[in-house]
Amino acid sequence: MDVLRLLFEKQPMDQTGVARHLSITRAAINLHFLELAAEHYIRPIATQSKGRGRPAHLWELDPQYNLFMGIAIENGTLQSELIDCQGGVVDVQKETYPADISFELLHQRIFAQIKAFQKLAEAREAQIRQCFLASPGRRLEDGTILQVVNLPILNGWNPDRDIEQTFGIPTFNDAFHTPTLQGASEEDGANSTMALLNWDDGFSAIFSSNGRQIIWPDPSPKRVRALWDVGHLCIEPNGRLCRCGKHGCLEAYVGGLALAQMHPELGCADSRELAQCAMAGNAAAANLLRQAVGLVMRTLYTTFELFGVDTIVFVNTMAAAFPCFEEAAWAELAKFYPAEELKLLTLRHSPLTEDKLRHGSALTARQVFFYPEKFLPVRGMHMANN
Ligand SMILES: [Zn+2]
Repeated sequence: MDVLRLLFEKQPMDQTGVARHLSITRAAINLHFLELAAEHYIRPIATQSKGRGRPAHLWELDPQYNLFMGIAIENGTLQSELIDCQGGVVDVQKETYPADISFELLHQRIFAQIKAFQKLAEAREAQIRQCFLASPGRRLEDGTILQVVNLPILNGWNPDRDIEQTFGIPTFNDAFHTPTLQGASEEDGANSTMALLNWDDGFSAIFSSNGRQIIWPDPSPKRVRALWDVGHLCIEPNGRLCRCGKHGCLEAYVGGLALAQMHPELGCADSRELAQCAMAGNAAAANLLRQAVGLVMRTLYTTFELFGVDTIVFVNTMAAAFPCFEEAAWAELAKFYPAEELKLLTLRHSPLTEDKLRHGSALTARQVFFYPEKFLPVRGMHMANN
C-alpha cells in the first residue's frame, strides 16, 4: 500500500527511488514490485538509461487495470462513473428516478449500474478496486444510512456491506461533502481556505484548507460532524420547524424549500424555481434571496473569521442566482470586516453541476482506496453501545 501511494503521488519512479523514499532495502522493494506487477497494480513504462550500468525501469500505476467507481444519488438522479487511476473517465451512466420510487426499485437500478460497470471491467480484464457511494443523509460509523430527509427509503440501508457482499467490490458510502469539494476545488483550493456554501433546497457548508476538508472525528455519540451541519445551527430558539425535526435551524430560514414555503405568493416550488424567478427579474424573489444571504453571512461570520476563510464559494441550485445576491453578501460582510480585510476576501459561485458531483464521487472512491484512514474515522455517529 505504501508503494502504491507513493506511485500515486509521485509516479513515475524507479525501484531505487521508491526504496529510498520508504527506507526499505532494494531486495524487499523488488519483491513488492513483483507482487504488485503480477496483480496488475503497477507496470513499467520506460527505461531510464543511467550511463553504463543496467537501465532502470520507471514504474507507474497501471491505468488499464485499476478502476474506481463513484455512485451519486440525489435530487431524482442516479448516476455513476468509472475512472482509471489517473482520473480519466472510462464510462458514465445516468438515469432519473421518480420522487416516490420504492427502495426495492431504486436498489435494483443501483445494482444494474454496478453490474454494467463490472461487466465492462471484466471485458478489459480490469479490477474495480474501490466504490464510493454518495447519498444524502447521516451515517452510523459502520455505514448504515440514517435520517435521510428527502429520500427516507434509504434509511437503514448499508451500501458498504450490500455492495461488497454482492459484487466483491470494497465500498464506502457517505454524504456529498467530499465529492462536492473534489468537484468544486478542481478549479482552485490550493493556498486557500475556502467555505463552500452548499445552497439548494436546504443549506450546508464545507470548510477546506489547501484543498483538504477541515474535519475531525466527533467523540460524542450525540452529534455528527458539526462543521458539515451548519445548516442546522439554531439561530432562533423555538423558531420554525426544520426538515430535520429541530426548531429554529438556519436552514429553516434560508433553505430554498423554507423560503418557497414562507413565500407562497411567489409561486415557486423549490430552490431551482426560486433562483430562476430571481434571475428572470422578479424583484420580490431577488429581495428574498438578498435577505437570506444576509442572514447566512451574519450567522457564519464568526466561523469565517475563526478559520481564516479567504474564499467563499456558493454552489448548488441557488448559486445560479449569485448575481442577484452578491452585492447583499458583500454589504453584510462589510458590517463585520474592516475595509482592508474585506479586500482580501473572494466571493464567487461555482457551477457545481450533477456531472461534477458524479466525477467528484469517482475521485472520492480513488481517495478512499489510497487513504482509507482519512475517511473511516470521520464518518458518522459513533454507535451508542461501543
Ligand atoms: Zn434543522
